[in-house]
Amino acid sequence: MAAEGQEKLWETKKYDDVRIYSDEEIWNYTDEELANYKCKHDIPLLEQLEEGPWPSFVSDIKQEALHRHKLPPDKLMIPADVCDDLLGQLELSYVEKETHWKHGGIVGVFGYGGGVIGRYSDQQERFPGIAHFHTLRVNQPASKFYKTDYLRALCDIWEYRGSGLTNMHGSTGDTVLLGTFTEQLEPIFFDLTHDLGVDLGGSGSNLRTPSCCVGKARCEFACYDTQDVCYELTMYYQDELHRPAFPYKFKFKFDGCPNCCVASIARADMSYIGTWKDDIRIDQEAVRAYVAGELKPNAGAFGDRDWGPFDIQKEVIDLCPAQCMEWDGKELKIDNKECVRCMHCINVMPRALRIGTDTGCSILFGAKAPILEGAQMSLLAIPFIRVEKPYDEIKAIVDRVWDWWMEEGKNRERLGELIQRKSIQEFIKVLGVPAIPQMVKEPRSNPSIFWSEDEVPGGWKRDIKEFRKRHPR
Ligand code: SF4
Ligand code: SF4
Repeated sequence: MAAEGQEKLWETKKYDDVRIYSDEEIWNYTDEELANYKCKHDIPLLEQLEEGPWPSFVSDIKQEALHRHKLPPDKLMIPADVCDDLLGQLELSYVEKETHWKHGGIVGVFGYGGGVIGRYSDQQERFPGIAHFHTLRVNQPASKFYKTDYLRALCDIWEYRGSGLTNMHGSTGDTVLLGTFTEQLEPIFFDLTHDLGVDLGGSGSNLRTPSCCVGKARCEFACYDTQDVCYELTMYYQDELHRPAFPYKFKFKFDGCPNCCVASIARADMSYIGTWKDDIRIDQEAVRAYVAGELKPNAGAFGDRDWGPFDIQKEVIDLCPAQCMEWDGKELKIDNKECVRCMHCINVMPRALRIGTDTGCSILFGAKAPILEGAQMSLLAIPFIRVEKPYDEIKAIVDRVWDWWMEEGKNRERLGELIQRKSIQEFIKVLGVPAIPQMVKEPRSNPSIFWSEDEVPGGWKRDIKEFRKRHPR
């Protein structure tokens, strides 16, 4: 993810070592100037968006436009009015109800096929500041922990060589740097890798930047070290991340527990969701304290309204999807073999209930957003696997799945669509796992599990005369 030897750069480096702008240049406008700022183009439709109660991206872009106009010209490598021209073109698109971006084209950095998304304006004479407006994806650190020194240095580089506009973060997880010219791509890449010690993320038909929840860094529910496995697989699959060779995009996401804070179940081709094998740990004293109103349910969340006294029956027992809990007024019982690890009871009473101690993760496959065949949630195929360094078991599964998908997948076919086209039965053969009831979505109407001849005693062939002896009519 970083140039060699640079991985721990920010343990010693300070913003002052790499800064481009002085404090005066950074804080170079007043509130009054901002309130009176007039964009170079008339943008009445966009300005309506500033009138609502919410923060507006139009106001943010204006703020950046003003800031850039007040910077010395020799400290900007692309036009100062990139932000004004961006607003101008967007206004035009609102009027004409069509885009003026020409998406695509091959732009990138030497040796990489992904990480830069090429974009040009088709109104270059009118809006020269955005003639090129390429986006860079920058690989975020695991769980998005930053030092402010790092962020300030990143913003300086981007102010200097790009539009200054960022998206923290894109839905895949990367830091997204929005808008620069082709000739700035290599210098930015050099600065990112050598000054900041970070790399570009994935884009195009490759492994997209893996992302993970906050995990063991801050969360007691984490069943495995999401940050470590995310970092390891990012490093291990560098080639797949930077050089598009897949039928289409492929996403890994790591959730430490079924609360799914990075929504892996809905958004990853391969979702790693923490789980446990043994029993939920119960502190009966704490359960009674919740029931007596001494502890706040949901750790005090939703506490801004009076919901009445906590009702364990209504708020926990009756909402258990497996109906495997019982409260007799003194003691809480859980039939753990029926529990589906949904996390509901633990979320409501975190001081009383804790995840088990025999932990690992479930691996699910094939979630995606709706482009073809509609949105899909991922399919549970590996109910439990240990998540232990160096993660060889997990890597072996990844390699098997990729081999199959690269062989069988059509151009721009996500893994979930391939599973749908070829069947779950074929997919689990690739994985080498047995069928489990959770794989059957609607028994009888769409059975996905079939017996093959060698799995049935006696095979398919039968002696019809023998059969008729037992079934005469
Ligand atoms: Fe914690 Fe689970 Fe959310 Fe990860 S997914 S941050 S472990 S609650
Ligand atoms: Fe029920 Fe979910 Fe609690 Fe398991 S985790 S006991 S399924 S509420």
